[in-house]
This record gives sequence, C-alpha cells and structure tokens, in this order.
Amino acid sequence: MPSNISLPNQALLMDGVDKLDIRAYPLTLPTTADGNAAVPTGCVLVRVKATGICGSDIHLWKHGSAVGTVVTEPYAMGHECAGQVVAVAEDIADWKVGDRIAIKPGVACFACEDCTRGYGNLCANMRYSGTPGVDGGCQTYRVVPVTQLVRLTPKISWTEAGLIQPLAVSIQMARQAGLRNSQKVMILGGGCIGLLLGAMAKSFGASQVVVFEKQTHRVEFAKSYCADHAFQNPPRNNPDETTQAYATRVSKHILESVPGVGRGFDICIEATGAEECMQMGIKLCRPGGTYIQVGMYRGKLPEINMMEVCVKQLNVRGTIRYGTNCFEEAVELIDRGLVDVKRLVSHTFDFNDSLSAFEAVYNLHDVQGKEVFKTVILHGDGDQGLESVVHGESS
Ligand SMILES: [Zn+2]
Ligand SMILES: [Zn+2]
Repeated sequence: MPSNISLPNQALLMDGVDKLDIRAYPLTLPTTADGNAAVPTGCVLVRVKATGICGSDIHLWKHGSAVGTVVTEPYAMGHECAGQVVAVAEDIADWKVGDRIAIKPGVACFACEDCTRGYGNLCANMRYSGTPGVDGGCQTYRVVPVTQLVRLTPKISWTEAGLIQPLAVSIQMARQAGLRNSQKVMILGGGCIGLLLGAMAKSFGASQVVVFEKQTHRVEFAKSYCADHAFQNPPRNNPDETTQAYATRVSKHILESVPGVGRGFDICIEATGAEECMQMGIKLCRPGGTYIQVGMYRGKLPEINMMEVCVKQLNVRGTIRYGTNCFEEAVELIDRGLVDVKRLVSHTFDFNDSLSAFEAVYNLHDVQGKEVFKTVILHGDGDQGLESVVHGESS
C-alpha cells in the first residue's frame, strides 16, 4: 500500500506584511518500495545550506509584493539559495547524493512568446522562488527540478554560494550594458548588486569604476573593493533645490573630479531607484553611452529628461533577473577568483536566527551596531560535511 513520509522541515515563513516566523513546514513525499522518500520525477531533494538575504526580501517582508501580489498562503522566503543533494529521483542520472549546487530561482514556462523568442527571464508565466505563492530557500529541505540546478566547484564555500544568484543578476546587467575592457563605468548605488557589477567591470579591464552611494561606510567599502573613486550623496544646497538642479550640480562635480572621464561614462548603472540618481545617470553618460536601470521604485513617477536621451543618442536599457548561463558564468567567475564575493559578506546567521538576520538587514546594522553589507543565512552544519537524509515519520 503506498504511504507517505513527512520530512521534519522547518521554514522561515511569510504570512503577510510584517509577518515572518520560523515554523514547522512538513515536506511530504511518497515512499519507495523499500520505505525511503521517493523524489518526484525530474527532481532532486536538496538539504539547504545557504540563503542570501536580498533587499527585495526585506521589501516583501515590510511592504509586500512590488507588483501587488497578495499573500494568500504562507510561503518560505529567500531566492538566493544553495545546498547539497540528499536524494535523487529514479530517472535522474547526472546528479547524485552529495552534489553541491546552487538553485536558480526562476521557472519559466518555455511555452509563451517571450520564452520561445529566447527571453526566458521575461516569461509571462514566470514563477520565482521566495515570492508569494512560490516557496523559496529559507527552509531545511527543498524538492528542486534538475533544470534549476547549477553545480558548485569544490573551491566555493557555502557562504560564497549564497551570492551566486546576485552575481548572476549582475552578469545579466553586464550583458545588457555591453560591458568590456577599457570602459569607464559609473555605478549609482553601492549595494551588493552595484558592487558586484563594479568588481566584474574591474576584472573585465574597465579603465575607471566610480561609485555614488548614500551611506558613509558603503562609500569607504566601495573604495577598498572595486571603485577607483567613490562619492557620497551631498546634501541639498537648500530646501528649494529641485532634484533636477541637484542632479545637474552633483553630476557636474563628479565629471570635474574624475580625471580623464571627459564628457561622461561609457556605462551608467542606476542601482538605487531614486529619482535624482536616475537623472544623474542620464547626465553622467557620455554621448552615445549606455544607461542601465536596475534599481526599482514605487510611488511617484520619476521625471526623466528625454531630450537628454535624444540629443546624446543614449542607449537606455532595462535589466531583470538573469539570462541563460548567467548562473554557470557566476560559478566560474567566483571559482577563478575573478570576482571576490566573500568580502561582501558582513554577516552570517544560523537559520534559527533568521529573524535576527532579517532585522539586521532592515536596520542596516546588527544589535552590536556593526554595519550590515551582505548577509547570508547558513543552515545546519554550514561548511561541514554531508548530512544523512533524515527519515521522517510515516503517515
Ligand atoms: Zn535578490
Ligand atoms: Zn514563458
């Protein structure tokens, strides 16, 4: 008689805005003839080892979905996830128990117009881990289709594996920007994504990487990490200074302060979502340069001077999620030492302290007052050996 096994799964569950909690979240699988958990066809069972916390997780927690999706069922948070294979489906030959992997969070339908045109990251029916209705990484176990796996190399630690997804997103940004050697690159917003792009630009042979950032400690970190120059947002001259006047004044200052930048940067990456930074990005692009919007915003529509886009013949492009092979390239960039993701990690927390981790990221500092950059949640024994598959209670 067929029976089921319930794995003792714990998950960081999101119940709605400002409602986050670690609770039992049993994962039920059918059993095989010999009484073990049967993994569904085409899938592996993963013991989660690392989950990075992203600004968008904090946004979901505190404000809900940017696209207005309502939480109807609790779901596990986290889309920056890596772990170890602990069981495989009968039909799977290329993956085995013990394999270390990162998980691609996006599942495209492969059937819509966007998918068939080769734009799976724009799929109309995209299901993305760690968003309302789709479980993410912050749990003990996950059943994952092998199409979502990328293999880690032995050099990559679990902590580093927690940053593969954001690096994959930066690789997509670099593709949209046409990043190559000898370019001058301006990054507005010195957060994780911005600095990963900065590190890639350096390893690609950029001639200048310049960062503009609001927080003092991030400005200092950017200088030590990837930036030839870093500027901190100055205050407004007076309360009546408009965002356009501010953007004009600050952009002029940057262009005059960075040696050899001439009429502007080849690439401007807007990674804040703030109106003044968008305006600055357009002003800081050289004629014929490329502006990439990656920062998200809500509320008031930003005012962008389209005449500047026109007369400077700018390439203005968007970027979203990651494209084909971005994860595989991220693994390679980390493995070859071309992008140092480890230095971005200011904090690691045990899964049981996930709530403290989220609080620290939200507050921008931990309870001791140490400033937060990137935070990774480590599950179980972290960078230790393979855990045996836990046999749950039969039901
Ligand atoms: Zn993210
Ligand atoms: Zn599709």
